[in-house]
Amino acid sequence: MIIKTKYNVGDRVLRIYTENERRRIKCPMCEGKQEITVNKITTSCPNCSGAGEISEYRNARHLETRTEITGIKSEVGFSKKLTILYYLKNGYYATAENLIPDGRITSKTEKRLIPEKWHRA
Ligand SMILES: [Zn+2]
Repeated sequence: MIIKTKYNVGDRVLRIYTENERRRIKCPMCEGKQEITVNKITTSCPNCSGAGEISEYRNARHLETRTEITGIKSEVGFSKKLTILYYLKNGYYATAENLIPDGRITSKTEKRLIPEKWHRA
């Protein structure tokens, strides 16, 4: 069996990785006041547990600094699908869809790197 790979050992690439980013926002239920009053009864806000803030999350894609392919491994998983893994000089490994050839960062690539929308956990 002959396996064709997108990259070769020695190719210069950049790795895309996803990171979960978190930010704190003012609680929309108590508006940061930490408590709510219903029918003249004041109680700790049930939405933020009295913190006045809640967390929002999003997945952000980042580009790593330039690195080099040092090894290639093919794997056949349980689904019998062939996966090509590229081992990198910086210690990580990645599939071809998470690698970009060095010097070929296009606007299409940058579009892929825009973080997804913030969402509440
Ligand atoms: Zn609240």
